[in-house]
Amino acid sequence: MKGKLKIVGIVVGALFLIGMIAIAIIYREPKVAVLSYHNIAKKEEIKKDDPWCVTLECFEKEMKYLHDAGYKTLTMQEFYEWKTGKREVPFRSVLITFDDGLLSNAEYAMPILKKYGFNATIFCIGKEVEKSTAEKWNGDCSLYMKKSKIEEYKKEYPNIEFYSHSYNMHYENAVNCLTKEQMKEGIKKYEELFGKTDVIAYPFGKYNDKVIEVLKEKGYKMGFTLADNKKATRGESNWTINRINVSYDKPLYKFALRLLLPY
Ligand SMILES: [Zn+2]
Repeated sequence: MKGKLKIVGIVVGALFLIGMIAIAIIYREPKVAVLSYHNIAKKEEIKKDDPWCVTLECFEKEMKYLHDAGYKTLTMQEFYEWKTGKREVPFRSVLITFDDGLLSNAEYAMPILKKYGFNATIFCIGKEVEKSTAEKWNGDCSLYMKKSKIEEYKKEYPNIEFYSHSYNMHYENAVNCLTKEQMKEGIKKYEELFGKTDVIAYPFGKYNDKVIEVLKEKGYKMGFTLADNKKATRGESNWTINRINVSYDKPLYKFALRLLLPY
């Protein structure tokens, strides 16, 4: 009986040791969660089954959690320096991003981000911002920010940065339909609108070699995807940086757990 207990003890001890070594190996590689949000709106403003909208209530809880848990919200430059090995960042670091340039971000997200002194990035669809005439939020989640208002937001919310979500590639299969010349034309138009930019979040997270070649040629340095739903690592290419889709309501414990998971 004593012999058996000894063997069980050794097996349990060995499994524990293996587990600890595995955890140490998994967490050794530095990773940063790049969070991808879209619309933030009040419950009654969200259309049923909209998969790209977080309620204001949920967003507030998530930002409060990040603050209370001591997360550092990186600027794009800090993220780039971390990504390229020029800077270390705390284990609890995130890059907060919003896709599309939606007016709900200005109405609801920006004041909360400001309250906590958080940095965040908004990836704008150039053409939609150019077309937008929306002066005020009216509860319509399909509204985009207006270009002249963005200039005001920049002053009021200096911790919010704006980068590209393309000028006119925000439709299914655009990466395959457009020629290199058309893509270059889009980049030019985006720059005429926003000035020089060097970071893009691919529309729908879709990219191919042709897009990357054009972006490199035009002086871009990073491209964010959405496909793998994983944390960003230094090992992956700067042109296919993973993000985690958080554009839907989830219990706070799931949000917290997702940030702690090693992938
Ligand atoms: Zn988008």
